[in-house]
Amino acid sequence: MSILENNEKLSSAMADIAEVAGYLWTKGWAERNGGNISVNVTEFITPGAITPLSTVTLPRRFPALGGDAFYVTGTGKRMRDVAKAPLQHGAIIRLHPDAGAYDIIADRIIAPTSELPSHLAIHDFARAGGAKVVCHTHPTDLIALTHRREFLQPRVLGRMLWSMIPEARIVVPRGVGIVPYHLPGSLELADATIAALDSHDVVMWEKHGCLAVGADIIDTFDMIDTLSKAAQIYLSARLAGFEPEGMSNDELEEIRRVFNLLPEGN
Ligand SMILES: [Zn+2]
Repeated sequence: MSILENNEKLSSAMADIAEVAGYLWTKGWAERNGGNISVNVTEFITPGAITPLSTVTLPRRFPALGGDAFYVTGTGKRMRDVAKAPLQHGAIIRLHPDAGAYDIIADRIIAPTSELPSHLAIHDFARAGGAKVVCHTHPTDLIALTHRREFLQPRVLGRMLWSMIPEARIVVPRGVGIVPYHLPGSLELADATIAALDSHDVVMWEKHGCLAVGADIIDTFDMIDTLSKAAQIYLSARLAGFEPEGMSNDELEEIRRVFNLLPEGN
């Protein structure tokens, strides 16, 4: 029996995951098994005993996540397949109360992404702020910009993207952080990402991809999509042979004031 049976809210959460996985694929941001998604689904799991399918020890404890349940895309799974059937290409796991191990509780034994410890480290950090979603993907236009050294300096890329279109300042109010290149899946990458998420909504990984954190998977996708649009405006102008002027600091500050957004770096 599927965990989705008689559970409309969990089924609806899976439908949202499938919808976003489809966007990541059709946008061209999820080649082969590129990217991964994790969503805190604790509130949708019916309390009570569930017989675990398998139990796995975690490399370290994630104290804020004891007892929490997550949907996680499976290791080696393609996002285009997640879009068709999230529970056949991912797993629902529940952490033990001491958060040092997890049980796979649905629907079959599929090993979570090898990035699971990084995702859990980020959830552990961001949970208190209301984050439920960690989404990592490979947007071509945004990655291209991280190949330019100037954009690797703090705040340069984020400010440029904000200045391309007013929505970017509004939809991604805490802006974009930059993490220098680290080996994919490494603890160094996770730790640097957590440090950058302290003051940003989305983090760019140099020459690799982006990672966004949010309370809702559709909103989290919207942040990356809006930043991708900003990157396309920049690159389209460069392709046309000119450097785009960008909105002025005064114009960005006016948006911040009118939309009651936090100042940069908060
Ligand atoms: Zn990646």
